[in-house]
Amino acid sequence: GFKCGIVGLPNVGKSTLFNALTKTAAAQAANYPFCTIEPNTGEVAVPDSRMRAIAGIAGSKEVIPTRISFVDIAGLVRGASKGEGLGNQFLANIREVDAIVHVLRCFEDDDITHVENRIDPVADANTVETELMLSDLESLERRIVNTRKKATGKDKESITLLPVMEKALILLQDGKPVRLMLDGIAAEDLRILRSLNLLTSKPVLYVCNVAEEDAAEGNAHSAAVKAMADEQGASTVVISAAIEAEIAQLDDEEAAEYMETMGLEEPGLDRLIRAGYELLDLITYFTAGPKETRAWTIARGTKAPGAAGVIHTDFERGFIRAQTIAYPDYVALKGEQGAKEAGKARDEGKEYVVQDGDVLLFRFNT
Ligand code: GDP
Repeated sequence: GFKCGIVGLPNVGKSTLFNALTKTAAAQAANYPFCTIEPNTGEVAVPDSRMRAIAGIAGSKEVIPTRISFVDIAGLVRGASKGEGLGNQFLANIREVDAIVHVLRCFEDDDITHVENRIDPVADANTVETELMLSDLESLERRIVNTRKKATGKDKESITLLPVMEKALILLQDGKPVRLMLDGIAAEDLRILRSLNLLTSKPVLYVCNVAEEDAAEGNAHSAAVKAMADEQGASTVVISAAIEAEIAQLDDEEAAEYMETMGLEEPGLDRLIRAGYELLDLITYFTAGPKETRAWTIARGTKAPGAAGVIHTDFERGFIRAQTIAYPDYVALKGEQGAKEAGKARDEGKEYVVQDGDVLLFRFNT
């Protein structure tokens, strides 16, 4: 499955947020039997209002959401790249995740120590990023020596690797994260870059942890983070971990009341989960029937057979075609029958790139 790693300096609210996520997940566990929770990994349902709409039309008994994982990665301090604190373990854990959720302290509270004795989330972000860049720089400088040698010796793999490595190295030497080269990158270069598994090549989402009273509007600290993120093409979510921890303990009705008093339309965690999903460049397609409506996750750009393979490898191997109804058509035409009559149930073949929201029915050989 796809994983987001939660990182940040100590005492910024990572565990509070992670515990709220896993509590929510635990509450869902009764409904969704495949939810597994490990000590520092929580699998959560991706909220998607389209599921209910489809299930209502299809008369489904059950609604099964798709899921992503969050991993709580503690232990980052200044000097982590030099092995300070739990530095090496921390960096190894980041290598395992697909995207980074970077929690920044945007709340003032004299009772809660800040490791650097000041509230400055932009400076905190730079502290963390610097450790990640130093670690990447060190590992890339080490690896590139050998690659250069082998490329000179006409080693094919090294010849394809080297230009991507050189480009990443220039960014790092310039004090910039490798993810800046993702924009408009060629598919082949992206594949190579991913294989290098550099920490700063992973997409980042900044989470501004604000005080309860700032949850709806944000504050000056979160505004500063947003300005920084916009410059980097990264996204931001403003959340109050304290509120989320509270909501996670309430039943649905109490939670709705509480959110209303706080001026919130939905739990911040729902926004966070969706933002994590977007960060991973994932899209959702649906299958619908009387038994269940189910959401499935694929990487954007996946073709129909690959999408079928998420359900079962046999579906991919024996793929013939996919009856495809776009979500807006499915809803407007009140389901499969109506879509068929209106000519909006398309038969798509092996080359079809599945679109977000597609309602699919696979035909395959067994
Ligand atoms: P971590 O070290 O980043 O995992 O931080 P924790 O989640 O353990 O939080 C550190 C301390 O800050 C705990 O005492 C939390 O209760 C507190 N805390 C977390 N979020 C907030 C918040 O939004 N407001 C306030 N006032 N305290 C918070």
